[in-house]
Amino acid sequence: MQFIDLEAQQRQQLPDGRIIREAVDARIASVLNHGCYILGPEVKELETTLSAYVGVEHCIAVASGTDALLIALMALGVQAGDEVITTPFSFISTSETIALLGATPVYVDIDPATYNLDPNKLEPAISERTKAIIPVSLYGQPSDFPAINVIAERYGLPVIEDGAQSFGSQQHGRRSCGLSTIGTTSFFPSKPFGGYGDGGACFTDDPELADRMRRVSRHGQVRRYIHTDIGVNGRIDTLQAAILLGKWPNFAQEVEQRGRIGATYSRKLQAVGITTTPQLAIGNTSVYSQYTVQVDHRADVQAALKERGIPTAVHYPTLLSQQPALRSVHSRSCQGWHMPVAQEASETVMSLPMHPWLSDEDQDLVVNALVTAIHQTSVSSAA
Ligand SMILES: *Cc1c(COP(=O)(O)O)cnc(C)c1O
Repeated sequence: MQFIDLEAQQRQQLPDGRIIREAVDARIASVLNHGCYILGPEVKELETTLSAYVGVEHCIAVASGTDALLIALMALGVQAGDEVITTPFSFISTSETIALLGATPVYVDIDPATYNLDPNKLEPAISERTKAIIPVSLYGQPSDFPAINVIAERYGLPVIEDGAQSFGSQQHGRRSCGLSTIGTTSFFPSKPFGGYGDGGACFTDDPELADRMRRVSRHGQVRRYIHTDIGVNGRIDTLQAAILLGKWPNFAQEVEQRGRIGATYSRKLQAVGITTTPQLAIGNTSVYSQYTVQVDHRADVQAALKERGIPTAVHYPTLLSQQPALRSVHSRSCQGWHMPVAQEASETVMSLPMHPWLSDEDQDLVVNALVTAIHQTSVSSAA
């Protein structure tokens, strides 16, 4: 069994009758024919398609989800000495990009039900130096933007949603990446809308921010060899945009299947007494980029599942606040962080195989193996 089955993806049939592989091959051939490898017409087409889907005015397609965060922070003018509030329970990119600009990440503990930044703990973390807030929509469901946006507005702070894992999900009928000042996402192959390589995007309704993000992603260039901002080489390849467009017609169905398979997992697991299944906040849908439960004796449970051919993963075993690379960056902050909820999550979370083509039979195998493993490990640890 595979954790994520990207081979099965290529075989899926699109509404026009072709399989994804054929559509992608045709798109790649078309780029090789026209030869505009940098900022070719596919980039604009992808941006138009995705901004319409998310329901915002502007999309800037970029080289990765990490670049999307960096470009968003640069466009907001975040610089050395500033603070950016974020969650400690995420992939390194969230803090890495803050640190790259000489700013300091300030962490707020997570909500135990959703694993996302807890808005009730946000306000005390805001200081004179705070320049932005980056909630991460972890495992596939949006952070609590209604609550976060109200607090951010009170302090005049922009909010960047790191939607690398939540692209396609909704909150009260609005799509992830369109829920705050800026939304960013990733097209890394294993993400909900994955390409076959690196890619990402920034979304916003603000025309000035959109201009600035576009400029920053292209060396701050306004005309050929005239550079008004310090920028990066953060463009998406035309080829990657073409691949994403080839896959796009299947995405709505993948989102639907992800939601259904996630819900089925929860029903099957609860039926056998496993209650640490994901909880959706009111108004949220999830694309289950990860289907994650909490278990005791995690390493033993993982080993028992592996023996039965079932892969698992841990997102994430080490909090960002404890990453060695960030130690000197964190020492700049005078705030003490108390994050018991994130700490406990990092010690107990475990993600199960999850992708839109996971069969009912394979889900049953996972569920049965998990129950057995949990019983075995709790019996042997009691002995
Ligand atoms: C994957 C991921 C990123 C980084 O995306 P890349 O495209 O790999 O650079 C950032 N944030 C989160 C939460 C992610 O899961």
